[in-house]
Amino acid sequence: MAYLGNFTNTKQILDKYGFSFQKKFGQNFLIDSNILENIVTGAGVTKDDCVLEIGPGIGTMTQYLCEAARFVIAVEIDKKLIPVLNDTLSEYDNKVIINEDILKLDLNELSKEYNGGKPIKVVANLPYYITTPIIMELFESHVPLHSITAMVQKEVALRMQTGPGSKDYGALSLAVQFYSKPEIIMNVSAGCFIPRPNVDSAVIKMELYKENPVSVRNEAFMFSLIRASFNQRRKTLVNSLSNAGIDGVTKETVADALSTMELSPSIRGEALSLADFARLSDLLLN
Ligand code: SAM
Repeated sequence: MAYLGNFTNTKQILDKYGFSFQKKFGQNFLIDSNILENIVTGAGVTKDDCVLEIGPGIGTMTQYLCEAARFVIAVEIDKKLIPVLNDTLSEYDNKVIINEDILKLDLNELSKEYNGGKPIKVVANLPYYITTPIIMELFESHVPLHSITAMVQKEVALRMQTGPGSKDYGALSLAVQFYSKPEIIMNVSAGCFIPRPNVDSAVIKMELYKENPVSVRNEAFMFSLIRASFNQRRKTLVNSLSNAGIDGVTKETVADALSTMELSPSIRGEALSLADFARLSDLLLN
């Protein structure tokens, strides 16, 4: 089977199977072999690695991953793509194709079954309509991961990297930076996909920390505070947190904690760093 990473071979497969793109699944397939090679190299995939690919599509990147990795787990939601994948990946025996919604799979089970619970590398050209839930699920499930290398909307990649003071700073930035060290490894233009998405894209690599950069007594509690702060980001922290109905969090307890931290009582969540949120979380837990 020829590599699919170009327009001609992709079109041939799409025609062979009479495949029509489903917008609801965020289907934009890569047709640029340079980009594909750079993603796999950027992800640092070696013959020791087990890779999880979310949304293999017709198997374009999966072919490259099967060549580079020890084993590839490819999870695709669209059942119409399964016969296509069985065809385009037929010559590789180091893969499993799973027809499932990635958000419904038990990732820890998957990691145990196919990699003995050792850290996996995630490599994906993500469906843009669920980028954030997928990234959050990967982090919050605490599945053993080495890194996540993902094609996302450029705007989302910037949000993942940014810090306090930027309008793009939010719950996603804090989660990504609590669990990993993010780095944008390349920008990708809309012309590298079929059909062309109407946004620019970027590949971001998130290498997971062995130890989080800040320590916090209750991670889940800290993230409930973070989410509440950014759900009402124009409000002061005192108001947004006390409105959120979190146990023990009132106008008074938040004001006290801010005073202990020597922060203004009218400060907004968007001005707090990750270390500030960790401190606030520990104080409010008392
Ligand atoms: N990897 C292919 C490529 O680069 O050409 C396709 C990438 S395309 C942007 C996203 C893929 O994710 C599609 O094949 C789509 O059907 C699949 N997908 C969408 N939602 C999914 C979900 N919840 N779980 C698993 N796959 C999903």
